Amino acid sequence: MKKVGCIFCRIAKGDIPSKTIYEDDEFRVILDLSPATKGHALILPKNHYENIYELDEESAAKIFVLAKDLSMKMKGKLKCEGLNIVQNNGEIAGQTVFHFHMHIIPRYKDDGQHIGWKQGKPTEDELEDVRKTIIG
Ligand code: 5GP
Ligand code: ZN
Repeated sequence: MKKVGCIFCRIAKGDIPSKTIYEDDEFRVILDLSPATKGHALILPKNHYENIYELDEESAAKIFVLAKDLSMKMKGKLKCEGLNIVQNNGEIAGQTVFHFHMHIIPRYKDDGQHIGWKQGKPTEDELEDVRKTIIG
């Protein structure tokens, strides 16, 4: 399953060269061309899924195992002090390439990056409403 015109399909299948740090039959892991920090990597499935909603459960499970392995490698080889795992779905959430990918972002002291959000202050009732909406 490859989508015509999708840059990550072409990279994942090896049609466009990339700085690959891992590859198997189903995934390719590449260095981001505009890295947030040294070692910023992207896990790409070779099949085209636009986002997490389209991803099948088996691939989803494998991606997190791969993320765990890569995290250990980053920690050991790059000596990062921390690590963020980021995965954007939809334009509003910051997705710019519409082929599912997971960011592995090693973190270093004074790396100048900030990955975060403004904290909300919901009331107890508001939290309970959301809880009921999600589970209902
Ligand atoms: P998103 O914003 O969709 O979560 O992340 C897309 C990421 O892909 C960005 O961090 C961007 O730097 C990276 N990127 C976009 N095009 C290319 C490319 O052609 N090659 C590589 N290695 N990374 C890319
Ligand atoms: Zn694709």
